Amino acid sequence: MTEQSKRLATASEEALWRIFTVPEAPDSTLSIIEQNISQNLAGFLRESIVAVEKPLWQIERDFQAHQIPTDPRFVSDYAEQLMQQLVAHSVHTAAPSFIGHMTSALPYFVLPLSKMMVGLNQNLVKIETSKAFTPLERQVLGMMHHLVYGEGESFYKKWMHSANHSLGAFCSGGTIANITALWIARNRLLKADGEFKGVAKEGLFRAMKHYGYEGLAVLVSERGHYSLGKAADLLGIGREHLVPVQTDENNKVRLDEMRRVAAELQSRNIKVMAIVGVAGTTETGNVDPLHQLADLAQELGCHFHVDAAWGGATLLSDKYRQLLSGIERADSVTIDAHKQMYVPMGAGMVVFKHPSSAHVIEHHAEYILRKGSKDLGSQTLEGSRPGMAMLVHACLQVIGRKGYEILINRSLDKARYFAELIRQHSEFELITEPELCLLTYRYVPAEVQAAMQNASAERLQKFNELLNGLTRFIQKRQREEGLSFVSRTRIQPAQYHRHGTVVFRVVLANPLTTDQILQDVLMEQQQIAAQDHEYLPKLLQLARDSAA
Ligand SMILES: *Cc1c(COP(=O)(O)O)cnc(C)c1O
Repeated sequence: MTEQSKRLATASEEALWRIFTVPEAPDSTLSIIEQNISQNLAGFLRESIVAVEKPLWQIERDFQAHQIPTDPRFVSDYAEQLMQQLVAHSVHTAAPSFIGHMTSALPYFVLPLSKMMVGLNQNLVKIETSKAFTPLERQVLGMMHHLVYGEGESFYKKWMHSANHSLGAFCSGGTIANITALWIARNRLLKADGEFKGVAKEGLFRAMKHYGYEGLAVLVSERGHYSLGKAADLLGIGREHLVPVQTDENNKVRLDEMRRVAAELQSRNIKVMAIVGVAGTTETGNVDPLHQLADLAQELGCHFHVDAAWGGATLLSDKYRQLLSGIERADSVTIDAHKQMYVPMGAGMVVFKHPSSAHVIEHHAEYILRKGSKDLGSQTLEGSRPGMAMLVHACLQVIGRKGYEILINRSLDKARYFAELIRQHSEFELITEPELCLLTYRYVPAEVQAAMQNASAERLQKFNELLNGLTRFIQKRQREEGLSFVSRTRIQPAQYHRHGTVVFRVVLANPLTTDQILQDVLMEQQQIAAQDHEYLPKLLQLARDSAA
């Protein structure tokens, strides 16, 4: 070893030793980032959505190296780099003018709690690595189960902490929750029967032969979330057998259509394994007729799942929970705490009506997950899992039913206020009404609106195509300006003969979003529209031609 390499080895060892033993000094860059984030959640380092607009390709240049660095470094050096390259260009999802997606502001206490969670590093897969966290998670699942199903005290006393039973599964998000629910539906349908040992043991091919089906299907509204497609693929049902069913003019699934599709599948000997009701669609926020879907599931003898990943939190509001009426009849329900419950990402849940539902997906291993143990890992899709349930627990304890009632009501009322603002405005058009706290709209100049009133279907389509271009332009420019953010999607509204219509999409869950901010968003969009030289002139011309 040369003198130089000896010195290097020592420096590396020094750096390594420090990362496990010496905490950051209060004036270090890392501590400063941390303080900024925790003390200034509302303003998180800045007021706007992005600090400095830097094009993505420039940001990518900071992340070009493909080789893992050779030598350990001091954290202080790395933190400087982190600040410049990462923190400065992160999207400010907690900004009150960031109203385009389902991420919202977080209560300040989740930050120190997250640190505690990482520090304790419990693994929820088995009790040996999560003694107190497992009962806590079971309690959170019990509370969410009660929120949905409202069983009595003796029910929870009997099942909440029972080994071999679970009232639900905690997971990273709605995707895994939906997969888990459909996995259970599949395994319950194709259960062991006489010689046949069940689909979990023998596979789908032999299950189909045993039960004499030509295939399986899952029915859901055409507005169903794409995670259901992944589930259909993974479970061997096939994406084509996740059958999208038409919605009505309110974006709710049509029962007559679902019944027709089910009969058609049955005539081809394809078994309807589950129907899924959506309680709060991702694009328009509408709730399917859950009671009628429950009736149909009963009629078809199939599993009834409700995907309330986003809308489920509405159950916390006594004023609005009847919007989800019928959800208590579902066999399983997905709810994401990271959507409207003010918990950071990574907190999904599925709750089961029956405590023994998950038996059909149970798995055991000798070194952990032994039979009769209270390990949650024996009835979950995921393996090693962090103690995220603690953050849900904290929010439920600190915010409470009344706190959530206030927050949820405020979001829904704000959405109604914004809808009214749009309706009153001569240059905007409300496309979908907010049933929960999500709405869609677009910018349409007054003279264009007037011309569209009496336009033929053909001309209407022309107007819509130009408006689609204009909506895209406004949304993109608004995001680049960085003052506020709405998202954009494409839907097929009944009032426009199901033409693909590009719309602004707004989700109002941030308690810090004020009426003034909503007024400013419209004003900004109006100003941006005037900067468009491609679609706007053509739209105005077409309106004039129509009037002539
Ligand atoms: C967000 C969402 C999902 C997926 O949840 P993730 O947490 O993103 O995995 C599923 N269904 C609906 C209705 C959703 O809104």
